[in-house]
Amino acid sequence: MTKKILIVEDEEKLSSNLADKLRAEGYEVSTARDGESGWEHAQGGTFDLFVLDIMLPGLDGLSLCRMIRNDSKTAEVPIIMLTARGTEVDKIVGLESGADDYIVKPFGLGEFLARVRVQMRRPSPARRQVQDELITGDLRLDLTGRRVFKGRDEVKLSNKEFDLLAELMRNKNAVLSRDLILTKVWGYDYFVDKRTVDVHIRWLREKIEDNPSNPRLISTVRGVGYRFEG
Ligand code: CA
Repeated sequence: MTKKILIVEDEEKLSSNLADKLRAEGYEVSTARDGESGWEHAQGGTFDLFVLDIMLPGLDGLSLCRMIRNDSKTAEVPIIMLTARGTEVDKIVGLESGADDYIVKPFGLGEFLARVRVQMRRPSPARRQVQDELITGDLRLDLTGRRVFKGRDEVKLSNKEFDLLAELMRNKNAVLSRDLILTKVWGYDYFVDKRTVDVHIRWLREKIEDNPSNPRLISTVRGVGYRFEG
């Protein structure tokens, strides 16, 4: 079966060079010019590999990488990042972005192709690290099945409530600002009102807290945001 690759890169010439090279090798290639349309492509197709530039207009490549990793449909697809600077390399490695490999620009097409072949051949380390459960106390999130259990009872959450709770539990004991939560959970849709976060937190508390008016799991950190107590 023909392997499909998505390239998200705003440098037109580089993008078309990479696409031509990959097509000549028999791969099926789609391209996107910015993070937002990259995300739409990633959601709409079945890809075997993502090639993401870091510096993109709008939603950047690292955020896109995390979104792809956090989405159950694309969580296991290998990702190669393209980076222009050494400082960006630190981010890819240090922040556990979920990328499988990266190439520093400028690079040769031969080297690029070799990296692509490696990812197509072997199971990616990021794939094996993908967590499928988050557990705190009697609360358990099944990330693969997108289900939540409190003790033995299933708690029914909306998609956004689930994503919000997953983000809080992944970062338990850390304060998450409303801005950060908006970026992580609502993704590229920056125009969502910040109060949306507060409203969803309230709904979540109604569903998971023993006493929603005296929350023990999700604390409000005044003037900053929210913290999940682990
Ligand atoms: Ca770029």
